Amino acid sequence: MAHEALVLLVINAGSSSVKFALHDSAHPGTVILRGQLAGIGTGAVRTDLPAEAPDFGPLREDADHADAIDWLLEGLAAGGFSIVAVGHRVVHGGTRLSAACRIDRTVEAEIERLIPLARSHNPHNLAAIRAVGKRWPALPQVACFDTAFHATQPELATLLAVPRRFYDAGVRRYGFHGLSYQSVVARLGRGLEGGLPERTVIAHLGNGASLCALADGKSVATTMGFTPLDGLIMGTRPGLTDAGFILYLLEECGMNAGEISDMLQRESGLLGLSGISGDMRVLEECDDARARFAIDAFCYRIVRETGSLAAALGGIDAFVFTGGIGENSAMIRARVMEGLAWLGAEPDPRANGLKAGDSPLRITTADSRLSVYAIRTDEEGIIAAETARLALAG
Ligand code: ADP
Repeated sequence: MAHEALVLLVINAGSSSVKFALHDSAHPGTVILRGQLAGIGTGAVRTDLPAEAPDFGPLREDADHADAIDWLLEGLAAGGFSIVAVGHRVVHGGTRLSAACRIDRTVEAEIERLIPLARSHNPHNLAAIRAVGKRWPALPQVACFDTAFHATQPELATLLAVPRRFYDAGVRRYGFHGLSYQSVVARLGRGLEGGLPERTVIAHLGNGASLCALADGKSVATTMGFTPLDGLIMGTRPGLTDAGFILYLLEECGMNAGEISDMLQRESGLLGLSGISGDMRVLEECDDARARFAIDAFCYRIVRETGSLAAALGGIDAFVFTGGIGENSAMIRARVMEGLAWLGAEPDPRANGLKAGDSPLRITTADSRLSVYAIRTDEEGIIAAETARLALAG
């Protein structure tokens, strides 16, 4: 199959997966192909590729991230795709990498230096960057950071009230999901008459979940903090957790750091509360009191944390749902809006029954004091656009 298409490759390397997309380099908003490799590093790699994908040949079951990327690049090149630049999602950019940028040795070294702050993400992002660099050293690569969007937070919003030396060593509330927030802000700006409301809270509700308070489109506070473990209840993460509980596990339960980490990353949240699943769709379809309890807790936490962000903003004009749950679950949206009645939310049940698309879907009545919207996020689209801007301009 000969494509001869000039494409941007977007890579999102997670702890055990690599999601990729090819975007038309002349029209970065246009996706040509997307796919996913899962189970990387587990000895049982699975590939999920669309029917129109070129024949990549087999991928070794014990492939690591570098092998997987190499296999992907080889297959794309053999399939006739001409990759002109690669854009990577990088989870942590710290304080120095506070905007998307071209990757050079200094940027690569900084991403590596930040590994202790993002042990389950940055090493994989780096492996992907290096695998591309090894095969095609001259190919421009761009890094887009999940933390960067929150660089506008005032210092007060980023503090942990622990001895100052930790702050000076980089321990602060960075916030994550920045590419999603950037995408939603751009889409609301384009799709709403009068542009983005002055004081907005966006709820990114997927497997990971967070809220962001925006003043004039800039992040001023967010529920994820030093790591993506803070804030809302997530699929398998607890969010907000009393630090004293961790001490209790260490001192009284004899758990070590690895066991505590596993419990907090993989066994908590919706899964831990329900004992059934961390997947919201499964819980919604499940007629079990424990599933309902987990959903109640999920919504309760969103409403409480929205109160905190509304206080940080001095009131809110708009609330926006996005992410797999926010885009698709009318039930969760209805429950959250019920909890936001005190802020003036008056749901429109008919509109709320619809799925979110690329333009804002208003799900409150015309008279509602608080405007609530649902919209699809497009993190890959942001990476493609930034890659085109930084790698191809001029
Ligand atoms: P990720 O954070 O991994 O990118 P997504 O944004 O795709 O994940 O969100 C995944 C979550 O969205 C899962 O909990 C899934 O059950 C939920 N979800 C997807 N579609 C629906 C739906 N129609 N109703 C309820 N939940 C849904």
